[in-house]
Amino acid sequence: TFFSGIGAASRKGILVKGSNYLEALTQLGTVVFDKTGTLTKGVFRVTAIDSTDNFSKDTVLHLAALAESQSRHPIAQSIRQAWKNPIDTTTLSDYQELSGLGICVVYRGKEILAGNETLLHQKHITFTPSPAAGTKVYIAYGGSYAGCLHITDEIKEDSRQAIQGLKDAGVSQTVMLTGDAEDIGRTVSQKLGLDTYYAQLLPQDKVDRLEELDAHKQIGKKLAFVGDGINDAPVLARADVGIAMGGLGSDAAIEAADVVLMTDEPSKLVTAIRVARATKGIAW
Ligand code: ADP
Ligand code: MG
Repeated sequence: TFFSGIGAASRKGILVKGSNYLEALTQLGTVVFDKTGTLTKGVFRVTAIDSTDNFSKDTVLHLAALAESQSRHPIAQSIRQAWKNPIDTTTLSDYQELSGLGICVVYRGKEILAGNETLLHQKHITFTPSPAAGTKVYIAYGGSYAGCLHITDEIKEDSRQAIQGLKDAGVSQTVMLTGDAEDIGRTVSQKLGLDTYYAQLLPQDKVDRLEELDAHKQIGKKLAFVGDGINDAPVLARADVGIAMGGLGSDAAIEAADVVLMTDEPSKLVTAIRVARATKGIAW
C-alpha cells in the first residue's frame, strides 16, 4: 500500500523518494521551515536607497549591482533589476559569495562589500545600522561605508494556512530558521503563528539549531525541514524528512531532499501528510 501511496502523492505534485519517508510523514512532531523562498515569496524588490555623504544613491546602487552581478540569491536578482543598466563584469575580480552574509568582490582595485550587518562587522566597517524594518543590504567600498538598500519580500498567501493545517494535523511544534535579521524573523513568525523562530543564522547555525530541535523532539516523533534549496542543502540532508520546494529549488537541494514539493506552496506539506495517512489507513 505504501507503493500506491507514492503514486497517489506524485499525482498531487509530491515526489516521495521512498516508503520510509511516507511513513515518517505520518509521524511528524516538529516541522522546521527556512524563511526566504519557503514561507516568503523570495521575490525581493528594492524600495529605497540610503547613501552617506561621499556616495550618491546611484553610486550605491551601482556598487551593489556590480557585487551582485553573479549571485543566484533572490536579493541579488532584485538589485540587478533595480539597477536596470548592463553590468560590466570585466572590471571585477576576486569574487566571493559568503553564504548567509553577502558578497565581497574587487572593483578597480578596491573591495566592494554587499551584505548584512554581520558581514560589515566582520570586515571592520564603521557604520550605523538602519533602524528601518525590513531586509537591508549594506554597501561598503574601499573600507568605507557607502549606504544601504532597503528590500522587501512578501509572505506567501499560502503560508498561514499551511501552519494552521500542520497544527490541525497534530504537529506540535512549528519553527522558522532564517539568516535574516531578528526583527524580520519576529514579524514573519508572529504573522504566521509559528511556535518559535531563530534569526541571524549562518548556514552552519541552521544545522546546529536543527540538531538541537531534533534532540528535543517528542519520543516516537519525526522532524521535517522544508527549504527552497538556496543555502540549505546541509540542513535538508540532516532532517528525518528533508523537504525541498521544487519550483525555485536548486538541483543540489532536490538531490539532497527526501520529499520534493513540485510547487512553491508550503500547504502541499499538509496534503502530503494527508496522503501518507490515507495510505496507512490512519484517520485524519
Ligand atoms: P534565509 O535564511 O532567510 O533563507 P539566506 O540564508 O539565504 O536567507 O541569507 C541570509 C542573509 O544573508 C540574507 O538575509 C542577507 O542579509 C544575506 N545575504 C545572503 N546572500 C546575499 C547576497 N547575495 N547579497 C546580499 N546579502 C546576502
Ligand atoms: Mg534560504
